[in-house]
Amino acid sequence: DTAAKYEAPSMVPVGVDPTRASIARVYDAFLGGKDNYAIDREVFHKVQRVAPEARDLAWSNRNFLTRAVRFLTDQGGIRQFLDCGSGLPTAENTHQIAQRIDPEARVVYVDNDPVVIAHGEALLEDNDFTHFVAADIFQPQDVLQNPTVRKYLDFSKPIGLLHVGTLHHYTAENGGELMQEYVDALPSGSFVAISHFLDPETPERSELARRMEDVFIHSPMGSGRFRTKAQLREFLPGLEIVPPGPGKPADFDLSDLWWPDGPRLRPLSPVEECSAAAVGRKP
Ligand code: SAM
Repeated sequence: DTAAKYEAPSMVPVGVDPTRASIARVYDAFLGGKDNYAIDREVFHKVQRVAPEARDLAWSNRNFLTRAVRFLTDQGGIRQFLDCGSGLPTAENTHQIAQRIDPEARVVYVDNDPVVIAHGEALLEDNDFTHFVAADIFQPQDVLQNPTVRKYLDFSKPIGLLHVGTLHHYTAENGGELMQEYVDALPSGSFVAISHFLDPETPERSELARRMEDVFIHSPMGSGRFRTKAQLREFLPGLEIVPPGPGKPADFDLSDLWWPDGPRLRPLSPVEECSAAAVGRKP
């Protein structure tokens, strides 16, 4: 019974309720978007009070997604993506990045936020290669057995599975098992990309991570865990992690340091040191 196995407060479906913060709308507020209510912006402002560079938390994540999808399409040869927790449409969405390289690359987006679903469906009306599924990403079988997922993704060919900025909203301890169910369904040669809030395990930054976590968990959004690298590795079970840069060990790295687009000319902000990412390949 998977419903009992994977339970986390954040899996409760969120309606379009302006009196309740939603993960997608709070994230949009962090990115500087317009699809959010006062209650969502309030969460952002509260995080800003403990971490003035709060926006970096969202942008480190989003910029990683952009680079990872480009890498997977271009270098990895991936032509079909399952984007779990896609979020509200923003400047560069997965299908736009992938379809710039191959216009016939397929993307299935999954989210459970009604605002995301409404926007997604409107955005994709004209695109035969992009589809939207309303499902709970923390119930892997519901996603994997979904008829739209099965119709548009070919599970005999490599798939790029994205769990970018999602798993920190899964607050229970068995996230490794949850990801194992996804990985088991993927054919060999598939990739999994993850980014996640990080507890950097240094006294100063761990304190910052703990304070941001405290704000998220006690906010009307209710979730946002900062995990250590050791905890994050459990989310890529049995996968070969792609080295995050030349000469670097195959492991999670700070999201901004994962194959950056160019040289770094300014130091990372404290918040940028609290986001980690990795890409793993199924042997
Ligand atoms: N992946 C995008 C990115 O990295 O830019 C968006 C990340 S946003 C922080 C997390 C998204 O996951 C939100 O759109 C939220 O609605 C969605 N989400 C959270 N929990 C979910 C669940 N249990 N089922 C489906 N979607 C969920």
